[in-house]
Amino acid sequence: MNRGDGAGRGGVNLPALRGHNEAVLLGLLRAAGPPGLGRAELADGAGLTPQAVSKIAARLAADGLVADAGRGPSTGGKPRTLLRLVPGARHAVGVHLDRDELRAVRVDLAGVVVARLRVPLDFGAGPEPVVDAVVEAVAGLRGRTGTPPPVGVGVAAPGPLDWRSGVLGRVTGFPNWAGFPLREVLAGRLGLPVVLDKDTNAAVATGGPGGPGAGTSVYLHVGTGLGAGLRLDGEIHRGARSAAGEFGHQVLSLDGPPCRCGGRGCLEVLCLDAVARGDLPEAARILGEGAANLVALLDVDRVLLGGRVVDADPDIFVTGVRAALAARPLIDTAPPTVAQAPGGIAEGAAELALTPLYVHPGTPPAGG
Ligand SMILES: [Zn+2]
Repeated sequence: MNRGDGAGRGGVNLPALRGHNEAVLLGLLRAAGPPGLGRAELADGAGLTPQAVSKIAARLAADGLVADAGRGPSTGGKPRTLLRLVPGARHAVGVHLDRDELRAVRVDLAGVVVARLRVPLDFGAGPEPVVDAVVEAVAGLRGRTGTPPPVGVGVAAPGPLDWRSGVLGRVTGFPNWAGFPLREVLAGRLGLPVVLDKDTNAAVATGGPGGPGAGTSVYLHVGTGLGAGLRLDGEIHRGARSAAGEFGHQVLSLDGPPCRCGGRGCLEVLCLDAVARGDLPEAARILGEGAANLVALLDVDRVLLGGRVVDADPDIFVTGVRAALAARPLIDTAPPTVAQAPGGIAEGAAELALTPLYVHPGTPPAGG
């Protein structure tokens, strides 16, 4: 990531980039929340002239995305006319494909859930019935007749998968999914833009720019396997092959027990063996050592813990991870906060579908 100097989060006064500038203003208005922002504040925040802001705001207002929010308190000169986001103007759908259930939400432009549903699912039954279930869920959440179609559908699925191509990899226990182009098939069936991402990435996207995963955060998942979602300076980090977050296969014990990945002594096999023995404090201690390696490497603000093993006994895992972090001399001066993830992988998936609408304040410009 290249932060360049000056340009930073700013917009650029060029007609070719009007889509970008619109996204910058929408990002500022979303971050500000009610009652909204004056044009001068928007110009400041976006690095645009007030005239440019007025033109862009007029386009956004014509699309119904922003509206005048009355007069704000005067800052000395004439009273400011505030502009606000119209959250209900558009919506997005997020879908979480778990091994045994499908959860879906419809969110407004502010990322607030306006409808949700949950149905049993057999992910192992393979692509065809699962695609049907997603299509049905999206239809069920479309809202009243006359509501504009969702701006997009975000789908969170178990990894590995290729985020760029939207193709599933060899998901452990589900060989019939390998190579299936889920994003393309869903986009064709739904007639909508679809984003496909790993469930762990959606988990760390939950809540958007102001959410629990904001800043530099890691989400650590303990379920049938161990994985991680990484958010670095606000951006999901997927890696060159969409394979970032293989947190569970860091080696903690060089001659340890064999792991299903073919290695030995991986964090995953050590931690899940302890879980299987019923020794949760030991599982938490092992998870904590892995978390401490990650924290030392990435210097994170927040560690979020989730997955069914954690959710069954969150206190033991939060305590164990905190203790492991505090015991590392290099990170004990200002250890990151450790908490149970608030859940909401479907919400995170919806957030990924909203992402193209916004450039969030503080986000480095794309392409540097
Ligand atoms: Zn392994």
